[in-house]
Amino acid sequence: MVNNICFVCKKPFREHQLISALGIGNEIVELINEKYPGWDDQSKICKNDFNIFRMKYITQLVEEEKGNIENLEREVIKSINENEILTIDTSLKTDSLTFGDRISDKVASFGGSWKFIIAFFSVLILWIFGNSFYLYLKPFDPYPFILLNLILSCVAAIQAPIIMMSQNRQEVKDRIRAENDYKVNLKSEIEIRTLHEKVDHLLLDQWSKMMKIQAIQIEILNEIRSKIK
Ligand SMILES: [Zn+2]
Repeated sequence: MVNNICFVCKKPFREHQLISALGIGNEIVELINEKYPGWDDQSKICKNDFNIFRMKYITQLVEEEKGNIENLEREVIKSINENEILTIDTSLKTDSLTFGDRISDKVASFGGSWKFIIAFFSVLILWIFGNSFYLYLKPFDPYPFILLNLILSCVAAIQAPIIMMSQNRQEVKDRIRAENDYKVNLKSEIEIRTLHEKVDHLLLDQWSKMMKIQAIQIEILNEIRSKIK
């Protein structure tokens, strides 16, 4: 036979020391072709060179795996950072109140407190008692307290729109909060789904790589066994 020369090191060998192209997996053929272009079905390779390429292939598989895990880590850190930015964004939005908004909030919260009711009734009683007894001789608002009536209706008229303003503000705040919740929920849902996909992908990928490495190990075992015989 003319073709008893190793394709890689170009040295002559005996028939049983060579491996024909048909007995080599596609991935290893690709590796050989990368370094020594022109490999075809008729080519043969000596066992030493074949082992070198086989080891190279296994190293490549393991390194790919390492790269996969590093990529995954990077993506998780990236998404965690993005999540933080999302939360800061909405809290800033709720804090950007105008002067009028802040005053209406404060007036509404004071108007809805016991402090206001107690102060209001104290003034009312003082007013009525003052004008009935102490200023009996010269009251500035005699019975039936028309000025007090006017002031009370003014307070009621002003208080209603202020409370409504504050309620509108509260509504806007609630809406922003609800939107934020929705965004965070959506994001975590998407994240969980992509994580699922990543895990599935990793499992499948790792599984097929493990099977490839195992096939090579069985090949090596068979070689050793045939040598012992
Ligand atoms: Zn060789």
